[in-house]
Amino acid sequence: MRKKQFKAESKKLLDMMIHSIYTHKEIFLRELISNASDAIDKLYFKSLTDNSVALSKSDFKIRIDLDKENRIIKITDNGIGMTADELENNLGTIAKSGSFNFKKENAQDKNIDDISVIGQFGVGFYSSFMVSDKVEVVSKAFGEQSAHKWISKGIDGYTIEECDKDDAGTVITLYIKEDTENEDYSQYLEQYTIQELVKKYSDYIRYPIIMEMSHQVPDTEKEGEYITEISEDTLNSMIPIWRKSKREIKQEDYNEFYKQKFMDYSDPIAVIHSKTEGQATFDALMYIPENPPYDFYSKEYEKGLQLYSNGVLIMDKCADLLPDYFSFIKGLVDSADLSLNISREMLQHDHQLKIIAKAIDKKIKNELKKMLSNDRERYEKFFKTFGLQLKYGVYANYGMEKDSLKDLLLFDSSNGDGLTTLKEYVGRMADSQDTIYYACGESAEKIALLPQTDAVREKGYEVLYFTDEVDEFAIQMLMEYDGKHFANICKNDIDLSTDAEKEAINQKNEDSKELLEKMKNALDGQVTAVKFSNKLGKHPVSLSAEGYVSLEMEKVLNSMPGANQGVKAQLVLEVNVKHPVAEKLVSADDETIVKYTKLLYANARLIAGLDIDNPTEFSDIVCELM
Ligand code: ADP
Repeated sequence: MRKKQFKAESKKLLDMMIHSIYTHKEIFLRELISNASDAIDKLYFKSLTDNSVALSKSDFKIRIDLDKENRIIKITDNGIGMTADELENNLGTIAKSGSFNFKKENAQDKNIDDISVIGQFGVGFYSSFMVSDKVEVVSKAFGEQSAHKWISKGIDGYTIEECDKDDAGTVITLYIKEDTENEDYSQYLEQYTIQELVKKYSDYIRYPIIMEMSHQVPDTEKEGEYITEISEDTLNSMIPIWRKSKREIKQEDYNEFYKQKFMDYSDPIAVIHSKTEGQATFDALMYIPENPPYDFYSKEYEKGLQLYSNGVLIMDKCADLLPDYFSFIKGLVDSADLSLNISREMLQHDHQLKIIAKAIDKKIKNELKKMLSNDRERYEKFFKTFGLQLKYGVYANYGMEKDSLKDLLLFDSSNGDGLTTLKEYVGRMADSQDTIYYACGESAEKIALLPQTDAVREKGYEVLYFTDEVDEFAIQMLMEYDGKHFANICKNDIDLSTDAEKEAINQKNEDSKELLEKMKNALDGQVTAVKFSNKLGKHPVSLSAEGYVSLEMEKVLNSMPGANQGVKAQLVLEVNVKHPVAEKLVSADDETIVKYTKLLYANARLIAGLDIDNPTEFSDIVCELM
């Protein structure tokens, strides 16, 4: 018997496994069980057409044996088995030639390390070396006379020799590593751990996974004492909840499953369970949580749905299945279209996955639309928690999704009747109104107090109150709704006056040119103009912005990390022509004009929610005038 060497590529992977500091070494069990299940699949399908297969469906099983004393885990299947050549080819090299290089290249691109490669894709049979220092594979291929034993202690190669085995199938024996300071390998020799791992990763494998279990049961002969009973237990349920028909499942079952699987204390606010056939065939079970996941706002939060291929978990968080604006959704997708092998390495490029992602996006949107029209209260609760994500969704990717998201948005408004959709706003618009008005501020209450809001409301128009930083950016992206454009009432290009009023105010500004110029100069470049205005209601002053950047946008852009404070709204100081303060200005001497202007400007900034640059000067002038 000669010792054979692993191919260079396999050696690299093996080395990575043996020295891995990957914290989820437990996945080795999932990998071996899924291999066993695949091997059984193959023989089972053969049995459908080949009479020489003496097994019927119920005979197929996967067996796990634990030998704690000798630190051995044995995984047995009665599947298709492997010939000597297959042992050599399948276990001596990586089956998917070049796949490891592919992974590594990708890993470097994205600056992720080996650990996340293992985590994302799993690494099949070799993962056994994360927990074992020796692995034995005894296998007999279906239809062959002889069986073979493959043995390896890792890097320095493997041997293959003939051996005895009665039936077709494979037995994998893992010699579990001794514990180290950092690693508790002994846990894998506990029946409880194995039971949990099967439940966690392989519950839905379609063949029974059985293990001999010892249970403590009360001794019927001696009261208060226990005896150990041994039984063969099936560890997996074999039927996933999402495969069952909706009629069979109670709301309670959905909720329980959610809470256990996604570790939440509260019931979800909505459940989306769908079975899709067509371009892609898949089952999806998704949940909208009531509260944000505990780490939702941290950098560590990873969006994604669990991905199953025919009941086998292949990825815990498949990010490609969820757009960012639905990052709060929890759930899973199970599709037979994704082969376990292909999907592990090629997932990101998988065409089928893209079709599924698109279908899922649509399903979630439809569910939200349904909730909005059938259960407004619940929708508003949802929106208060996650609405911000949807607004970012409108804005993101150059507005690619704006049309599919715009009807899911809610805003406060001067209508006073709680939150409103854009559609509802437009429905209330008067015939004469051709613009959707909005104003930005910290809170609805503060916006309601703005001089401009007063003036627009006086004209009988409703104003949307934008209180989230992203609101105005989202609306700029939207550009219009139902053919109606949006206008910020705090920007200078809004004018709701009649022609006669316009003419009068223009005349006034023309006549006061000299005064207004002095005022502008007093502010030393901080505003682009000072004007008299007739649209401030009862209020003496206000700031408005000209051009693209509004005051609110200036605040947001400058508060972003890395902002160079360079973005400035072009400000216009507006003075209410009908307010007594206007009279005062007209009759003041030059020195007083400067002081008044500085005061008015500071007041206008405060009203707009902006800081004043020189509070000391402001206070000095106020006190002096007192
Ligand atoms: P993958 O399962 O992703 O192909 P593995 O390294 O886990 O990669 O396995 C390599 C190959 O070895 C499998 O494709 C399969 O052909 C064979 N194999 C592994 N385990 C078994 C088994 N229990 N029975 C039969 N063949 C197996």
